[in-house]
Amino acid sequence: MALSRTIVIAGAGIGGLTAALALAARGFRILILEKAERLEEAGAGLQLSPNASRVLIDLGLQPRLAPHLMTPDAVSIMSARSGGEVIRLPLGIAGEFHAAAPYWLIHRADLQSALLAEVNNHPGIELRLGCQFEDFDVHSTDVVVGHRKGVAREHEPALALIGADGVWSAVRQQLFPDTQAEFAGLIAWRGTIDARQLPRELTPHRVQLWMGPKAHLVAYPMSSGKQINVVAIMPGAWNRPGWSAPGDPAEIKNHFAASRWPDNARLMIGAVDDWRRWALFTMRDGGVWHKGPVALLGDAAHAMLPFAAQGAGMAIEDAAVLAKCCGEFIDDPANIAVALQRYAMMRRSRVGRVQRTARQSGQIYHLRGPMALARDLTMRALGAPRLQARQDWIYDWKL
Ligand SMILES: Cc1cc2nc3c(=O)[nH]c(=O)nc-3n(C[C@H](O)[C@H](O)[C@H](O)COP(=O)(O)OP(=O)(O)OC[C@H]3O[C@@H](n4cnc5c(N)ncnc54)[C@H](O)[C@@H]3O)c2cc1C
Repeated sequence: MALSRTIVIAGAGIGGLTAALALAARGFRILILEKAERLEEAGAGLQLSPNASRVLIDLGLQPRLAPHLMTPDAVSIMSARSGGEVIRLPLGIAGEFHAAAPYWLIHRADLQSALLAEVNNHPGIELRLGCQFEDFDVHSTDVVVGHRKGVAREHEPALALIGADGVWSAVRQQLFPDTQAEFAGLIAWRGTIDARQLPRELTPHRVQLWMGPKAHLVAYPMSSGKQINVVAIMPGAWNRPGWSAPGDPAEIKNHFAASRWPDNARLMIGAVDDWRRWALFTMRDGGVWHKGPVALLGDAAHAMLPFAAQGAGMAIEDAAVLAKCCGEFIDDPANIAVALQRYAMMRRSRVGRVQRTARQSGQIYHLRGPMALARDLTMRALGAPRLQARQDWIYDWKL
């Protein structure tokens, strides 16, 4: 690989793969190091709003994604207090926004497979699986990236290193050793249900968001409507790193029974056979993302609470902005650090605002008693158009 245009990306998650495609489209050669031997995702769904779908469409991914996409017609906000719908926010005809990009629901594995297929087809990208990033050394003209495959340790000289290695990022650990992800005191429980198991009224073409006392529940169709993705967020003290630890169904059933959730919500909880749980870790907003020729992207930079459904969306936006900034320096590689600084400057305030929005949304969803009643009445009084307009700044984003 020619040194002058080689960028190493640590991590082949949604952020790392999208960054590889976006950077390669600007003429860089990309080496992706991924510690997993195989890229496989736990069964889970993703909501991709127009700000993210637009980037994927621009990268040419729509044909590969099309067979796996669902475009919901609305988000239905439900209250555990009343057991009914508080308000329905239409997402437009077939999920097309005035922002002229679709709102998609997709299985995470399908998105990752489509990205992977594009990466494997691109002559300018090399993906090394089972290859763990270990450390880096910055020199005057390059950054040397140390990685390990089994017992073999190797070094790769590169123009820049991008840490897209997730919330427990080893790149961040070396770049900013004092900056750690923090446990949010919340656990995400995730599972899928065969849609045929549920009554029709519980499998609409919509995202259902149930707000309840100190917990909330999100359910939506994916895999062409064959499956329902269910996510429940509850407080908890268990805080092991990882994405896919088995969860005891009795624990979640008891939580939803004890706090008197309505039958419909409990039916969905009861229909999941295989619960997986993830402790939610977040990065503080306003942190630093870059130093010299090394920068962070996605969860490594800004892991956030999932309550705005924007974690992957922000990683995808990061990838597009990073590629644009680096592209401006393709003939001036000596100044790649300036490009990375620009990237961080262009992203930090927007991502910080999304992080705050996600936190505030969680507080609102989890209200109890009279505060929950006040919330439901306020949402109804505001009405769908005004509530929707509050999302415009997220969804209308364009590069
Ligand atoms: C419950 C829940 C629901 C969510 N729902 C949504 C949603 O609806 N919409 C949305 O946009 N986002 C959602 N998110 C957030 C989204 O999943 C993440 O923000 C996104 O996956 C982050 O992508 P990433 O590429 O930054 O990191 P990751 O997906 O974590 O990828 C990091 C990769 O780096 C690899 N790696 C780690 N260390 C090393 C190393 N040393 N060397 C080499 N490779 C390494 C890992 O194996 C992994 O493949 C949700 C998150 C949760 C917890």
